Amino acid sequence: MTRTTPRPTVLVSGASIAGPALAHWLNRHGYAVTVVEKARTIRSGGYPVDVRGTALDVVEKMGLLPRLRDAHVDLRRLTFRDADGGEVASLHPHAVTGGATGRDLEIRRGDLTDALYAAVRDDVEFLFDDSVDTLDQSGHGVDVVFRSGRSRTFDLVFGADGMHSRTRGMVFGPEERFHRYLGHCFAVFPMRNTLGLSHETVVWNTPGRTAALYAVEDDDEVHAFLNFAQPAPPRELFGDKQAQRDLIADVFADAGWEVPGILAALRDADDVFFDAVGQIRMPRWSSGRVALLGDAAYAPSFLTGQGTSLALVGAYHLAGALAAGGHAEGFAAYERGTRDVVTRTQDRVGEGGGTLFPTTAAALERRNERLRSLSGR
Ligand SMILES: Cc1cc2nc3c(=O)[nH]c(=O)nc-3n(C[C@H](O)[C@H](O)[C@H](O)COP(=O)(O)OP(=O)(O)OC[C@H]3O[C@@H](n4cnc5c(N)ncnc54)[C@H](O)[C@@H]3O)c2cc1C
Repeated sequence: MTRTTPRPTVLVSGASIAGPALAHWLNRHGYAVTVVEKARTIRSGGYPVDVRGTALDVVEKMGLLPRLRDAHVDLRRLTFRDADGGEVASLHPHAVTGGATGRDLEIRRGDLTDALYAAVRDDVEFLFDDSVDTLDQSGHGVDVVFRSGRSRTFDLVFGADGMHSRTRGMVFGPEERFHRYLGHCFAVFPMRNTLGLSHETVVWNTPGRTAALYAVEDDDEVHAFLNFAQPAPPRELFGDKQAQRDLIADVFADAGWEVPGILAALRDADDVFFDAVGQIRMPRWSSGRVALLGDAAYAPSFLTGQGTSLALVGAYHLAGALAAGGHAEGFAAYERGTRDVVTRTQDRVGEGGGTLFPTTAAALERRNERLRSLSGR
């Protein structure tokens, strides 16, 4: 069949999870899709993420399920240790996370982004090493000027540029307005697998402090994770990597178990990801011809383990809603169809936090009692 009308054009900012998933569905629905990503290429590697519930149906419909099943990280053991490194409990992770064995997927974030990218790269235009500098909706479409200097007009623009979304900042206002700080900061970084861990996570706690080592396989590297309670978000540290390291070293200074070795690894690590634990809560996810999705619109925080699933499900709903009508009706239908699951997920944040990051001695003791009874000790 010959197409008589030109395809509507869309720009998606961000090529991690939400962006390529939306690109896939919009391309299928007949849109001409461009994705702009500020990194030089798809960012592979990184910690494992969960894909659960409806998100599994979404990746199945995308034809990715067999590939993702092959990439499943089979985490077999979760061990909790006390201040001195003594074992509190050791159990199967699903006893704590409530995951469904044989159905839920846990995969390296990079394996998921690679699979999503491979699914769309031939049908969608990717602009790497670039980003949106300005957006102007005063004409018939959205006039975009890129950091590289090129300028183009799109029918619609989507922000899938994560927790600290620049699209959100440009269209909806400063992050502080929508960011709900959850009282913790964290750092993740790779380090040598000095304990010989394999397919397991070891979690050390004192009140308000958590150190964890996450071994996806029995290889030479583990993901180290340090989390600590902090009454206000240390915004002044966000651009200052040395100050982040100094704060963490200070907070964990007298810690036992393997923490001194983890701190030494932190000092030497090039690839440290530091952030405040928080959520994005917005009254609306669209304005005119611009809409947000994934962490940019509704980051639930990693305490829920659902950020990736929400990003996948949101992309599917958003593209489906647009295909059924014009953008104003489509965006309204996207919000109606997605908000409920987002709110329910965000409201569940206390559950995960209480298990991994108890902040008082009493909460830690209650948590340990619960873990001992789950493990039958
Ligand atoms: C430590 C940690 C552990 C986590 N664990 C889990 C878990 O177990 N399970 C789970 O489901 N989720 C987890 N998450 C959350 C999960 O990673 C996110 O919720 C999910 O990746 C959302 O995807 P996204 O595509 O919306 O955003 P992101 O993955 O943040 O991607 C945003 C993309 O936009 C790009 N970008 C940013 N700014 C611009 C710009 N101005 N222009 C162009 N591109 C830009 C970035 O480079 C990036 O590629 C975890 C997060 C962290 C930090």
